[in-house]
Order: sequence, then C-alpha cells, then structure tokens
Amino acid sequence: MNPQKDVLPTSGWGRYPVVDSVVHRVRWQSDLSTSQTPPATLAQGRLRSYGDAGLASSVLSTLELNRFLAFDAETGLLETEAGVTLDEILQFCVPKGWFLPVTPGTKHPSIGGCVAADVHGKNHHSDGSLVSHVDSLTIVTAEGDVLRCDRSEHSDLFWASFGGMGLTGFVYAVCFRLMRISDSRIEVETHRTADLAETCQLLLLTQTEFRYSVAWLDLLSRRRRGRGLVMLGRHASGGPLDLHPAKARSIPALGGLLVSRPLLRMGNRLYYRRQLRRTQTTVMHYDPYFYPLDGLRDWNRVYGRSGFLQYQFVVPFEAGRECMEEFLDRIDGAACSLAVLKTFGEFPTGMLGFPRPGWTLALDFRRTTQTIEMLQHATSVITAAGGRVYLAKDAVVTAEHFMEMYSRVEEFLAIKHRYDPRSRLRSALSDRLGLT
Ligand SMILES: Cc1cc2nc3c(=O)[nH]c(=O)nc-3n(C[C@H](O)[C@H](O)[C@H](O)COP(=O)(O)OP(=O)(O)OC[C@H]3O[C@@H](n4cnc5c(N)ncnc54)[C@H](O)[C@@H]3O)c2cc1C
Repeated sequence: MNPQKDVLPTSGWGRYPVVDSVVHRVRWQSDLSTSQTPPATLAQGRLRSYGDAGLASSVLSTLELNRFLAFDAETGLLETEAGVTLDEILQFCVPKGWFLPVTPGTKHPSIGGCVAADVHGKNHHSDGSLVSHVDSLTIVTAEGDVLRCDRSEHSDLFWASFGGMGLTGFVYAVCFRLMRISDSRIEVETHRTADLAETCQLLLLTQTEFRYSVAWLDLLSRRRRGRGLVMLGRHASGGPLDLHPAKARSIPALGGLLVSRPLLRMGNRLYYRRQLRRTQTTVMHYDPYFYPLDGLRDWNRVYGRSGFLQYQFVVPFEAGRECMEEFLDRIDGAACSLAVLKTFGEFPTGMLGFPRPGWTLALDFRRTTQTIEMLQHATSVITAAGGRVYLAKDAVVTAEHFMEMYSRVEEFLAIKHRYDPRSRLRSALSDRLGLT
C-alpha cells in the first residue's frame, strides 16, 4: 500500500463538492486486510461519478489494481481487478471480437466503480444494467474477509453491492461476460424530432428494432422545448475489429463563458440544425457513438471554478412525459447545458440500483446555490411520480427525498451492518444521506 502523506482537495467529475482527502493506493489484495487500512474509509475508482459518491476523508484508490486475471476466449468470460478501466478492457477485447455488454457514456471509469453504481448504457431496454452480465465479485469486507459472491453464495452481498456505492465492501475483482461482435463499427440512424412528445414516441417505437438508443434534447428552444436528435444504433457486421485512432482535443475553459444561456441556446440551435435531413443513416466507429464527450479533454472545466451538477432521474412510463414537463417547468430558471433522454426496460438491478422501467433524463447545469435549491425543490415531482435520482451523479438530493425514492434502504442497511458492523465504510454521500 502506498499512502499519500498529504491531505488533498478532491472532487468528482462535476468538480463539486470538494472534500479534503488522504489517498491510499492499493496494490495487492493483501493491502486490504484491516491491519493495513485506515479505520474509516471508502474505495475510490477513477472519480468519474459526478457528485460526492467517490469522496471521503480517507480513500483506498484502485488506480494500481489494474491486472487482467482470466479470460475464456470461447465464452468471453473475463475476470479483472477492480481498477481496470473500460478503455483498457476495450483495447483488450475489441480486436478479439468482443465488446462490453453495458457501457456508460465514458470509457474512463474503472470496472469496480461501474459495479458500485450498477451502470447502465444506451442498451438498457435490450440488455439491462451491468449486474445482468456479472457472474461473480470478489469482495474484501470492512472486516478484512475475502468473499467470493454471486447469485447463490453471499447473494445478499452481491445484490447490495450493485448500486451500493462502495458502502458494502471493497470490490477487488469482477468476473463478467463480454458480448460477441464481428465489427467495431455501429450502424447509426439519426432522426430529428420536433418536440418532446415526438422524441418520446420515436424512442418507444424503435425499442425492439435497435439495441442502442439515446436522444439529445434542446431544452432551451422557446417554442419547441424537447426537440432533438434521436440516435439509434446496432452493431455492424463483417467489418474491421479495430480501435479508434483519434486523440482527445482540448477545449478552452474561458471561466464558464461557454455555458452562458445565450451561447448555449445558439449552440443547441446549430447542433440541431447540423442534420439537414429528418433522417440520416451512417456507419461509424463505436468510439464516437458511445463516447462523444471523451473526444474533448477535460470538458468538465468549461463550467469554471464553481463546477457543475449532473442530475439524472428516472420516472415510470405512465404519465412520465407530463412529469418530465412539470419538472422542466420548475427548473426553468436554470440554463441546462446538456440534456440526454433514454429508456429503461424491465430488468433486475442492485438493491440501491438506479434503473427501473421508464424514462431517464440526465441534465447538466452550472453549479450555483440557486440551481441546487431549484433541483431540491423539483425533486418532489420525481418522488411523487415514483421515480428516483441516480446516486452516481448526485450532489443535491436530501435524506428525506432519498428515503422516499429508494424503498429497499432498510434491507440494504441491514446487509451493510452484517458485513461492516463497525461502520468503517463511509463517504460524503453516505453521510449526507444518513447511510452510515
Ligand atoms: C461523461 C460521463 C458519462 C457517464 N455516463 C454514464 C451512463 O451513461 N450510465 C451510467 O450508469 N453512468 C454514467 N456515468 C457515471 C459513471 O459511469 C459512474 O459514476 C461510475 O461509477 C464511475 O466509476 P469510477 O471508477 O470513476 O468510480 P468513482 O467515481 O471513483 O466512484 C464511484 C463509486 O464507486 C465506488 N467504488 C469505486 N471503486 C470501487 C471498488 N473497487 N469497490 C467498491 N466500490 C467502489 C466508490 O466508492 C463510489 O461510491 C458517466 C460519467 C461521466 C463522467
């Protein structure tokens, strides 16, 4: 173990909040025995969660737990240490004709962080979240016990760890199934829509036809809020199995100027109109389709020193569009810089997992006190509709709203207590939500 002596200010991808933290780098599984680890701590991956989920005063970083442990080339079963990133997995598996079964909108998180958030991708309606593709986890509990857990052995720990945000134990290794591909490209059909109603209708109509779907929305259009580009995708076949050569470009920070409302409105208009025809079909490499933002280095700095918030919620399909409209009315004063809409299907998820069948809307805002208050206030629209906010992106939800949104909290806390009786595992998020 390599403890970093200094206490350093640390933040997640949204650069808010900032927490003073001592980082201990874990190199081997044996570093996780209780005699080595500090008394109160949290596992930390690549800090690609937006809010305070990966933050604590003392963290165990997985940056150096980056070894591949086993691979079956016949079945695609892969076991890696928790700190291996999705990008490292793609570099290993794409040339061999395999792909990630589920991927978030960035390739930089660690696989351990993805387990802790039970991440979803553009294919939730067809393939579910990560938990549906994981065979087993190796977890080192807060008491130092090494447990192999799956759907039959220590199944309580298995299900609580997906979406458990690091509070059930330290995921040391993940064994999961890759997806077969015969081409590294994606066939993409992009449709321009006139408003939110049409965007929702198109996403629903194309669910069975396309494995992947996502809609970019223009929420700043005065007359047609929710118009957008619906991007539908499926794996191409019979082409090359290559990696993407492009390097990320840098983007000027300009102290938050780029995210002022007039510039955002103009940017949205240009982005919407860049597609001249109503429907366009192309074949592109998987990298720009799944990870467009990774093409811009440190894009999170464009919000300036105050950082930004991403707020993602899911609401059931029934009355979901009306609910989204009401939510957007309530936060009208905040300029949304990016809005992305997807659907979730009917699949199992972890105990505090985020997905449930319905619409999921992710919104980015520059962080201001007023925006935080607006979002907190508007969260009651989500809870009233039976929806929930994603913990991997949260920095604003109150403990009261959290209890309303996540109905299995008591069950989760009982399991946490079983494996962490001295409450050694804690984070800024768990303190805020009263989960320790
Ligand atoms: C541009 C962008 C797009 C994104 N798109 C999506 C998306 O489409 N879908 C989606 O679901 N998410 C998405 N995310 C969120 C991201 O996938 C998750 O937050 C993921 O958890 C980040 O992993 P990490 O390694 O960076 O973990 P961190 O941010 O460091 O930590 C996140 C949580 O995981 C826990 N953790 C990390 N490692 C371990 C471990 N070894 N054992 C136990 N707990 C651990 C931490 O304690 C913390 O609670 C996106 C993020 C970004 C920046």
